[in-house]
Amino acid sequence: MKILVMGPPGAGKGSQSQKLIEDYDLTHISTGEMFRKSYERGEKLGIEAMAYIHEGNLVSDEITNEIVRNRLLKKDAERCFLLDGYPRTETQAEALDEMLSEMNSKLTAVINIVVDKDIILERMVGRRVCRNCGHTYHTKFKPPHKEGICDKCGGELYQRKDDQIDSVRNRLNIYESKTKPIIDYYKGRGVLININGMQSFDAVYRDIKKALRDLT
Ligand SMILES: [Zn+2]
Repeated sequence: MKILVMGPPGAGKGSQSQKLIEDYDLTHISTGEMFRKSYERGEKLGIEAMAYIHEGNLVSDEITNEIVRNRLLKKDAERCFLLDGYPRTETQAEALDEMLSEMNSKLTAVINIVVDKDIILERMVGRRVCRNCGHTYHTKFKPPHKEGICDKCGGELYQRKDDQIDSVRNRLNIYESKTKPIIDYYKGRGVLININGMQSFDAVYRDIKKALRDLT
């Protein structure tokens, strides 16, 4: 099984991926981690990649594709993997298909967790964090007993800058404009599976498993 999971910020992509990796014994291929490791080993590609990251830019398609290609050629990526943080552009998606096809392989499925924008906004904008112990609450779904005060330690609850409405909106817009071409690309290739992300974690996971089972 060779899969990748897509979904907007706040859709639970990370935890769903983690569970899939454990249950299906998938090799976790994360570009972020590969960039760091390659950099630590002092490799040219890693050093170049980190230069992009330090400047707050996306690593170029060329470098990213090269690092992914090297990784996919390793033995533990032969049978099954979950790709994380890649592809980020349509060019990368095309390059991935080419690499896999050279290896006589292909993607099994692209899982797209779909959540309405309004619901993500509600989930994220209502989030509150304790300044003292870091415990998280939600004004609507998981309110503290006393407004603005942490149940655990009595600390003050606050809203992180990342969770403020303009910041969330901005991140969602960036996500949409960047991923739309990739989603369209995979739709055209017939490997896209849309999963309703507006349910509990367990229900989303159940739907993903069912979709994967239906493939085989
Ligand atoms: Zn607290």
